[in-house]
Formats: sequence, C-alpha cells, structure tokens
Amino acid sequence: MPEGNIEKLLNELERIISENSDRYDKEAVKLAFLRAEKCHRGQKRKSGEPYIAHPLRSAITVANFKIDTPTLQAALLHDVVEDTPCSLEKIKEEFGEDVAFLVNGVTKLGHVKYRGVEEVENLRRMMLAVAEDIRVILVKLADRLDNMRTLNAVPQEKQHRIALETLDLYAPIAHRLGIGELAGELEDLAFPYVYPKEYKWLIENVKERYEERKRYLESLLPILEKALKEAGINIYSIHSRAKHYYSLYKKLLRKDMNLETIYDLVALRVIVESIEECYAALGIVHSIWKPLPGRIKDYIALPKPNGYRSIHTTVFGPGGKIIEVQIRTKEMHEEAERGIAAHWHYTETKTGKMRAQDIPKEFAWVKQLQRWQEEHQITSEFIDSLKIDFFKDRIFVITPKGDVIDLPEGSTPVDFAYQIHTQIGNQCSGARVNGQIVPLNYRLNSGDVVEILIQKNKMPSQDWLEFVKTSFAKNKIREALKKKMGLSKKPSEKKEQEVQFRITVKDRVGLIQDISKVFASAKININDFTTETRGDYPVIALSCKLKDPQKANELALKIRSIKNVEAVSFKLKAP
Ligand code: MN
Repeated sequence: MPEGNIEKLLNELERIISENSDRYDKEAVKLAFLRAEKCHRGQKRKSGEPYIAHPLRSAITVANFKIDTPTLQAALLHDVVEDTPCSLEKIKEEFGEDVAFLVNGVTKLGHVKYRGVEEVENLRRMMLAVAEDIRVILVKLADRLDNMRTLNAVPQEKQHRIALETLDLYAPIAHRLGIGELAGELEDLAFPYVYPKEYKWLIENVKERYEERKRYLESLLPILEKALKEAGINIYSIHSRAKHYYSLYKKLLRKDMNLETIYDLVALRVIVESIEECYAALGIVHSIWKPLPGRIKDYIALPKPNGYRSIHTTVFGPGGKIIEVQIRTKEMHEEAERGIAAHWHYTETKTGKMRAQDIPKEFAWVKQLQRWQEEHQITSEFIDSLKIDFFKDRIFVITPKGDVIDLPEGSTPVDFAYQIHTQIGNQCSGARVNGQIVPLNYRLNSGDVVEILIQKNKMPSQDWLEFVKTSFAKNKIREALKKKMGLSKKPSEKKEQEVQFRITVKDRVGLIQDISKVFASAKININDFTTETRGDYPVIALSCKLKDPQKANELALKIRSIKNVEAVSFKLKAP
C-alpha cells in the first residue's frame, strides 16, 4: 500500500532528524514536507507510486549529509517549482531566500543535459558554476540517486541517456566531493544501462566468487575480533564489504580482466575509535596473517585527492588465500559517506564557524574552484565559502536541448545566438529566457535556459553593436551589416588601387557613352573624367578604383574595341 510506504519514509526521515536535533529544526522540516506533499498531491511517479515518495527519499539521503535545515527543506521542495503550479516566489515567501535559492539551483541544474560529448570535464565544472553552492550539488546528487534507483520505470529510450549522464557527470562529481559511497552506488546503478554486455559478463563471472569470498571472510571475522579485543582496541564495527561492481569492472580493465589479481573483491573492514588504534590494529592484523610486501597503503598519512582516508593492507589468510583489510576510524568512515559535508560538521562544532582557510587541504580541488585568495582574510560563514565563484567572469546558459554555452558575464541573447551559429545570430528576431520573452539586450544569468526566435531573411541591426558583449558577435554583426550595404564580401582583404586610363579617340556622337558603358557593365565607378586635345586627337583621361589591377587590362581591351578609339593606355597610381 503506497500510503504505508510514505509513512515508513517519513518515519525514517524523522528518525535522522531526531538523532541530529542540534542540526535540524524538526518543525521547519515538517512544514516543508507538508507544502511539498500538497503541491505534489495527485501526481504519480512513472512507477505509479505517489510523487512525494521521491522528494522524501531524496531528503533522507540529504539528511544523512547532516548539513542544515534549509538544505533539507530544499530537498523536499526540489521538484515543486518545475513540476507543480507552486512558484519560486511562494517558496521564498514561506521558507525564505536561502531555501528558494537552493530550489532554484536544483531546477537550473536539471536543465543541463549530457549526451556523451567530448568536453565532459568542462561540463562538470560548468555544473558546479551553475549550481553556485555546493549544497545545491548535494541535493541534486540525492535527487539523482533516487532517480537511478527507480530508473527501470522510465521509458527505455530515456534510460541510456540518464544512466550515461550519471556515470560521466554526476558520479565523478560525487567522487571529487569525497562522497565515495554515493558515487559507487550511482555507478553501480548506471552500469547495466550503459554497458549491458559487460555488466552481464561481470555478474556471470563474479557472482559465485563474490559469495564464496564473502562466506570465507565472514568466517574470519570472529578470529580478527578476538585478537583486536585482546589488544585492547575499541572496535566500532567489523564487517565484510563487497567491492562496487563498476569500480571492480574498471579495475579489471586495467588488469587484463583477470579476476585472480583482484584481492579486494570482498574486503574486511575494521572501524575503530582513534587513529592510534588504526595503526595498532594494522599491527595485530599483520601478527595473525602474513602481509604481502609492498601492499600497505596508508591513506591516513597520505589521503587520496578527494579526501579519502583509511589504511589498506593485503595479507595471506588461512589456506593461503589473499585478502584485503581496510582499517579506519569512525570519523573517516563517516567522511566517506558525507564527503565535504563531513568537514563542515566537525569544524563548525569546534569553532562555531568554518572559514574558508579551514577547508581541509584534501579539498584543494574545490578550493581552487572557488579561487580563494590566500592573502584574503575570509571571515564569512562556511555557507558563504561553499558558494562557487569559479569562473567569476563567466556565465553558463543552457540551450532548450540542455547544452551548456559558456559566455562572458553581461552577455545578451544576441551573443548567445551567435555562439550557437552565425546564421542564428543574423536571423535573431527575439528571445525567450526561462520561458519568458525578453528584450534582445537582456543580461543573461548562469543557468538561464535561452531560446532564440528567428526570422528568415532578417538582418542584424546596427543597435546590436551597442549592447553585445562578445567580440565574436560584434565581428559577425559588422560583417553582416557591410554585406547589407552592398559592399562585397570581404572588402578589408583586398585594397583598392587607383588606375588612370588615357584614351585617344576620334570624336563621334555617343563615344563617351560607349566608354562609360564598359565601366558600368563591370560595375566600376568612374571617379575622374577630363578631356584634352593633344595634337590632332582628343584624349580622354579617366580614373577609377579597382580591387584587382588585372582588371585594368580587360577594361583596356574592351575600350580599344570601341569604334573610333585609336589608342588606350593605363597606369596604376601608387597607393
Ligand atoms: Mn527530482
């Protein structure tokens, strides 16, 4: 029964909120739930369940990040603006600017579509810039996780695109923000849709081995637990843990698809209280099982670039089977699930506020994105430090098809149109931004969805030069305007040269007219025209400008063939 399911989800959310009552305002979250429930009432997911189940599950994921109340409210309300008559204004009125900002950010990110283009790295960065705030990304990741869990209900033709986007765009972002568990789950959910054959191969070849390994490791748990306890180590948890399928697949690709060389198919995981106990536990493990030389990885002393910390060691278990043991503290374990959000929590409780320079060095990547000035004393709250100023002077707008277009700040729909295609720029007659008609000099913002209205045979207007931002658009407009004024295609490329003709004639009626016809039919203007009499014959001197001096020969021959023209000469005047 669907209602029962909603009830269950709500209870789960309430449980997390109660466990973190220092962080979450229960009443405020409840109001957001009631609003979301009301807005989505009557709507169903593709699977047939009530729509509210989706924002609820997204909120549960977000709640486990343990960020703050507005982020949790935004998770509940994230689809309200896009899919229901509830407006962003209404959200702002009821829940404040922060929640409205986050909801709007998630909506904007939803417009970015990835179809497997080359510059995926740029797109990832653009996503972060469009989001403006890491909290937006965290809600979006939670949203995507639930969409992936329910992907089988989506029409087949859409499944592949969504899964590919998850694999190439969202999972790497989650990895970089240190949210390894969520990244791994996203990858595993996408894997069968993106690489069905490879997935099938892996399952067929691994399933039994997985189960056999799991049974084997489970049998070792009591031995290890006893040894650790005897050494006085406080164990928080000790369990076996299977490697994610997709990360296993990637590892196999590096190892010639040889499963024998994968030691961490299933690993033993030991979670203890302190860092000292991690190293003590490592000693105990090595005292009961012989370690493989050169296989100890100390990610506590040297964390991975995304902040991952743990000690990994590979040992010979009973019967000579090779096993991997991972040792970490409770705090490190939680970090792997909460990523960047975890660092916020710990430092905030210590000092009340987390400043930019308190961001752990493992997140240098994020730090770099935000272009923090080291010499600057940044004293704003951590919330502010989560804002992404990366590409400060750039904006990223989105086409109706979901492609991201990178423009300088202050760009207008005309700049956007020329960026898409010169033809579209030239024929641009209007623009819609986020569904609303706007003037062509409208200043675009990051995340705007821009649609250009075109009119065939339309030409750019001189006024556009006043407001366009990109020099690309400026050049294209100038080019089109020159064409419009009847100048030839590329006047700047060839310099015109003045040519002077001297034509000796026997005068007759209509002779001058015949001569000027030659120029007219070649579309050349005569600049100067004089006649003088030298000796017996009158001489006509005329000059014109030619782009191609070769043309002078042609003209001379044509003039010479006119009746009563006795001689023609010409000279090129020095420019
Ligand atoms: Mn959603």
